[in-house]
Amino acid sequence: MSTWGIDLGTTNSCISRIVDGVPVPVPIDGEPIMPSIVTYAPERIWVGREARNLELSMPERCVRSVKRRMGGRGPDYEIDGRRLPPEQISAEILRALKQAAERETGEEVYDVVITVPAYFDEAQRQSTLRAGELAGLHVLRLLNEPTSASLVYDQVGATREADGPEIVLIYDLGGGTFDVSVLEVFGEVREVRATAGNTELGGDDFDELLYRRFADHLKHERGVDVTADVRARALLRRLAEQTKIGLSSTLDQRVSSEFVAVDASGAPVHLQLSLTRREFEALIEPLLRSTIDLSRRARDEARLQGQSLSRICLVGGSTRIPLVRSMLAEAFDADVHEEIDPDFAVALGASVQAAMLAGQPIERVLVDVAAHSLGVRVLGLDDVPWEQPDTFAPILRRNTVLPSSRSQEFYTAVEDQKAMTVEVFQGEAARCSENRRIGTFTMDLDPHPLHSPV
Ligand code: AMP
Repeated sequence: MSTWGIDLGTTNSCISRIVDGVPVPVPIDGEPIMPSIVTYAPERIWVGREARNLELSMPERCVRSVKRRMGGRGPDYEIDGRRLPPEQISAEILRALKQAAERETGEEVYDVVITVPAYFDEAQRQSTLRAGELAGLHVLRLLNEPTSASLVYDQVGATREADGPEIVLIYDLGGGTFDVSVLEVFGEVREVRATAGNTELGGDDFDELLYRRFADHLKHERGVDVTADVRARALLRRLAEQTKIGLSSTLDQRVSSEFVAVDASGAPVHLQLSLTRREFEALIEPLLRSTIDLSRRARDEARLQGQSLSRICLVGGSTRIPLVRSMLAEAFDADVHEEIDPDFAVALGASVQAAMLAGQPIERVLVDVAAHSLGVRVLGLDDVPWEQPDTFAPILRRNTVLPSSRSQEFYTAVEDQKAMTVEVFQGEAARCSENRRIGTFTMDLDPHPLHSPV
């Protein structure tokens, strides 16, 4: 009989199992993750994507982020005069995962490992166990989320088979929460040495900043205040998330939505603007800076006593934002790993743990990663302008899963620049002269003023 791993997340949840010795997520209605949203419609309870779709039409019947209230951390919900304790709502999410996985695989979902944040106290853990029971599951074990993620990173060989303990930092930036943990890993034993985080920080806050940017734009351009309009707010928030996700892979996004609201004269108001990755990064940089500070604090509290941090593993959907990785690489002298899809890392680890508890064999997960960073020669701050610049700007970092594409913006170095020679290097050194030269090509440019983006 299969065993299963469940990541019961604040924003999204995921269920996984071992197939041919390898952990894989089980698709829920075709998608590997399911929004942790429950809507109590008059006729029935909806969970996941349908629940999210109904949010626009019945926001008062919709529950998001129930995880925050587990273990008596908030009042029971009240919908339609019914009192709904958080564990009952969590049980709906677990039941939906169970039923969908059973439909998908034809197997019964019974023995499970469910993950919880490392900082969850006893009441929050008991509440999660109770939710599992209510959903008809047999919870083999509750597993700390960072421990779970580190387990699956072992399967790709990201954590080294060392002669001594290794120190790993798990940086988990999701939709609504940020958690960082420093783990000591030695063979099968892993111990959480320190944790820090912010339960009120995540991708939703980035969406909120963009949403406010859109709302300000409409106020400025059309004199319309959309913030009091529930429908417009929900629409712009969704657009904000799409824009944010788009900016993880492109350098700019055209934001466009018709009939967002009506103005004082009753005329329809459309939203139309462009946003660059750089502008978005400037908006979120202070929030990311706070996650780096918390990561430093966790590292310091772990009291490494001579041991050094060797790896940082990325978990949570928001770690797809390129700035997250570059800020971590800059702040810590450690390899940053992203071989495992950040949406599934926790759930996959839970299924590895469940299989280990059931004595099932696990194979190594093979992924193809870039063994060295790839980047270009740029004129850096330390370079002497009249000499050959020697600053290496990595674009595709070491350990990035292949195939992959990354884009980055650079600026012209002289007035009316008409061409650009791109010299590509491979390596980890800050100076091009200490890395390996891969090749060169030249691109023509329309003449641009100095410091224009290209
Ligand atoms: P999680 O709680 O780990 O499921 O993460 C969900 C968060 O990740 C949400 O705020 C998503 O908008 C965000 N997210 C997912 N994919 C991306 C992406 N490609 N770029 C930026 N944020 C993303």
